[in-house]
Amino acid sequence: MATKKKTKKTQIQLVKGMKDILPDEQLYWQAIKEKVFKAARDYGFSRIDTPAVEFTNLFKRTVGEDTDIVSKEMYSFVTPGGDKLSLRPENTAGVVRAYIEHGMLNLPQPVKLFYVGPQFRHDKPQAGRYRQFWQFGFEAIGDDDPVIDAQVIAISYNILKELGLETEVQINSVGDKESRSAYMKILKQYYQDKKKDLCVDCKKRLTKNPLRLLDCKVAKCRELALEAPQMVDHLSDDAKDHFMAVLEYLDEMEVKYNLDPTIVRGLDYYTRTAWEIVELGNEGKLQALGGGGRYDDLAELLGGRPTPAVGFAMGMERIILKMQENKIEVPKIKDYDVFVAQLGIEARKKAMKLFEELREDDFRVTESMSKKGLKDQMDIANKRGAKYTLIMGQKEISDGTVLIRDMESGVQEIIDYKKVKNELRKRLEKKNQDA
Ligand code: ATP
Ligand code: MG
Repeated sequence: MATKKKTKKTQIQLVKGMKDILPDEQLYWQAIKEKVFKAARDYGFSRIDTPAVEFTNLFKRTVGEDTDIVSKEMYSFVTPGGDKLSLRPENTAGVVRAYIEHGMLNLPQPVKLFYVGPQFRHDKPQAGRYRQFWQFGFEAIGDDDPVIDAQVIAISYNILKELGLETEVQINSVGDKESRSAYMKILKQYYQDKKKDLCVDCKKRLTKNPLRLLDCKVAKCRELALEAPQMVDHLSDDAKDHFMAVLEYLDEMEVKYNLDPTIVRGLDYYTRTAWEIVELGNEGKLQALGGGGRYDDLAELLGGRPTPAVGFAMGMERIILKMQENKIEVPKIKDYDVFVAQLGIEARKKAMKLFEELREDDFRVTESMSKKGLKDQMDIANKRGAKYTLIMGQKEISDGTVLIRDMESGVQEIIDYKKVKNELRKRLEKKNQDA
């Protein structure tokens, strides 16, 4: 018989690059989501949720095989059934796949969709950079009017402004297909005699996808990128008119922006307008809060009809980081009107019943039934912002009454158990009027 080896169980820990979102931090998440939902309502965007898992090819075809995201950062796997799948590194491709698959081109255009959800990239973990991170994004599909670009930009800018963050938009045009291929040749020429100064990745990028060179964060590459010929000087008339119109609308909406010829974005599918949004005074391309652009060719890449579209994605952890750095406070949730307190085992049973009844009747009611002392319960009631506490003890049960305490004034009154709800309603209404 094998002897049992005594092994010390090691503690299982969080996977590297992942993050628990604890209750205290949820206040920030809630604050952001509220602004997102409000913007969606105001600008007429409907929510879409696509799966976290898609065919790997979806991202290869759209984001691009030579991008960092697809070549280095994707969590890809083969299922027992032999399917090649990936955890989504971004959400635009999934949204456009859904648009095509569900025939949304038959709806009035543009179809305006927004999402909030986790994305997965095998990035190098650090502050503001995780391997599962959350994005919210807005996509307007089926319209090529520059006013939509400007509006979509304004949405992200305004959400951040409402959250208390001062930002600016770093904007560029990456042109349409024709103007871009001409520009890429010019770019290649420019880099030809500078090859030796480029980082390893950029040396490869030069043959495969020279636009990517402009996006590199390595200091020397960045220096060269700033001196490089600019896309805006090589735009087709169409692309140029479109870009100028976007800028005019942004002026009108008082969105702060800077022209930045090195913005090309880390994904291949962008055409014409491309932008990133950064904290004001932090335009050094360190960590953008979000970015977006037009992606007029994406639907076609997925086998759909040519469908112009524009959208953005914002990183929620980075927004929270900035809010914390700037000491922006988020409102504490103090959503309770009533606390039900109890003293003694019999009273506790009755109090539990009362709590359930109040809940069913949609009172904003709370409790802490496992606590025995009244002082403990009062402290909790105060912390949760309850306006009234209903107290039940042995005496109240025998008399068929409840003690109601006004938490502000400390005044306590005896009321008939049967009249509790009416009394509460009356008093709460009066308190709300006085407030
Ligand atoms: P970066 O250059 O910082 O890697 P990116 O260009 O890869 O960003 P996008 O694909 O534009 O990022 O995604 C939009 C936003 O999503 C980013 O601006 C950022 O706020 C957020 N984001 C991207 N990757 C991460 C990550 N690994 N962890 C946290 N947030 C991220
Ligand atoms: Mg990245």
